[in-house]
Amino acid sequence: MRDYDVVIVGSGVGGGAAALSLAGTGARVLIVERGERLPREPQNTDPEAVFVERRYRARETWVDGAGRPFSPGQYYFVGGHTKFYGTAMFRFRERDFEAAEHEDGISPAWPIRYADLEPYYAEAERLFGVHGRHGDDPTEPARSSAYPFPPIPHEPLIGQFAERLTQAGLRPFHMPSAIDLRPGGACVRCGTCDAFPCRVDAKGDAERCLIDPALRDPNVTLLTGARATRLVTDDAGKRIVGIELDVGGEPRVVRAPLFILSAGAINSALLLLRSANAWHPNGLANSSGMVGRNYMNHNTTALMGLLPWTVNDTRFTKTLSLNDFYFGCDDDRAPLGNLQMLGNISEPMIRAARPSLPRWGAAWLARHSVDWLAMSEDLPHPDSFVRPLADGRVELHWKRTNMAPHARFVERSKRLLRQIGMRAVLSRPFGIDTPSHQCGTVRFGDDPALAPLDPWCRAFDHPNLFVVDASFFPSSAALNPALTIAAQALRTGQYLRERLGTF
Ligand SMILES: Cc1cc2nc3c(=O)[nH]c(=O)nc-3n(C[C@H](O)[C@H](O)[C@H](O)COP(=O)(O)OP(=O)(O)OC[C@H]3O[C@@H](n4cnc5c(N)ncnc54)[C@H](O)[C@@H]3O)c2cc1C
Repeated sequence: MRDYDVVIVGSGVGGGAAALSLAGTGARVLIVERGERLPREPQNTDPEAVFVERRYRARETWVDGAGRPFSPGQYYFVGGHTKFYGTAMFRFRERDFEAAEHEDGISPAWPIRYADLEPYYAEAERLFGVHGRHGDDPTEPARSSAYPFPPIPHEPLIGQFAERLTQAGLRPFHMPSAIDLRPGGACVRCGTCDAFPCRVDAKGDAERCLIDPALRDPNVTLLTGARATRLVTDDAGKRIVGIELDVGGEPRVVRAPLFILSAGAINSALLLLRSANAWHPNGLANSSGMVGRNYMNHNTTALMGLLPWTVNDTRFTKTLSLNDFYFGCDDDRAPLGNLQMLGNISEPMIRAARPSLPRWGAAWLARHSVDWLAMSEDLPHPDSFVRPLADGRVELHWKRTNMAPHARFVERSKRLLRQIGMRAVLSRPFGIDTPSHQCGTVRFGDDPALAPLDPWCRAFDHPNLFVVDASFFPSSAALNPALTIAAQALRTGQYLRERLGTF
């Protein structure tokens, strides 16, 4: 008995790309999403509503490794975290797929190479409408095709900094971005983007670029307000036969021959662990013991460069990035990471982060600053984990790695920003409550003793279960993850398309 041919859990990048791959095949696909469609409303672009009132944040309290409660920056809507993302759409570098030595250990090799993903990166860029220019970024991997759209021109102030970085002997480049900023495009340069939902559908998010196109196939159904609570196996504990849902408080079971999890790296791991049964007392797909482990989230620090005599009136800031230190440099051999623009920081955002600051001070900082993000690789560690607690809460234990090279990268970036005109640079590291780049918790690999998933993201323990959100990452690289999630989900989607009916 089957209700659908495929059930996909989660409508973010991974779930959306899998759904779009299976659309048009004749398969009856159900996408199960715990959230609803995010309403278009004035609050979308109101920093007071988004940052001070936390209007869209999940009402959840998690605990860290020391048992301290915190409110995680999790967002449950159709489109997942891309409804709030900053539209930076990077491919990982060829070397990110190889093992690499870092100060705190080895960044492990992936079971696939960059070349395996390249065609799917190209497809993902096309689906998301990415702007960019090949050839400027010194670390950029080989490409089979041009970016779908030309780079987004810098606004004047950002252009000045790009010029000064070039004069300093560096190779700044136009950040690849999924925003509809073509001439005549939908973007109205509202001044909010990164961390805000888009009111005019100009952001290339998973709802607009993947889910809605998939839903044009009448065989694809989206069920919102439906939280997956448990996967059910057959009597041998091998195949997944059903999924239990909480649909607005009502329990429901859906049966299908094929299941694709994409609930986000933390929630997919939790779902597998919560589905423990007599055959799998440590959770499904977990004979390696690695489900929930190897949690990574990038080492990121926001940098606020102060310009006391200049008002920063840039509307879309996220056009500039720097990878000159990505793999290290002459005087620091450690891979350091990526420097990129952050979205505009406004007074309420500063107030939300530093409530003790007077409003006038926060307003002055917002007007007289340019904001950057320094991002370095976090390494997988079995003691960095997420797990459900007996009382229903979630424990996230983030064992941070590579903080010393990250601190050096932050200092180097500050020096650089002062060199190109900023009088002083303030910094604030992101903590455990900002799991924006969560990954690694159900990793893929060649060895079932070390990884829950095979190189196609299929669970070694369950032939009809796939996991395609950022859980599968064996390493985090030091670049934004969304395009890589999309590319691998498209790759898995093609694999499944060729095998539909065999599950
Ligand atoms: C503020 C912010 C800015 C960011 N900026 C960038 C950027 O510029 N570039 C970039 O590459 N990345 C960025 N990221 C990260 C990027 O958005 C994520 O890596 C990516 O969206 C993750 O996709 P996913 O499919 O793995 O998971 P998610 O987006 O988390 O999707 C999972 C989906 O599953 C649903 N779900 C969860 N649990 C259940 C359940 N039990 N049952 C049913 N449904 C469930 C969720 O509601 C969600 O819709 C940013 C993230 C944030 C928060």
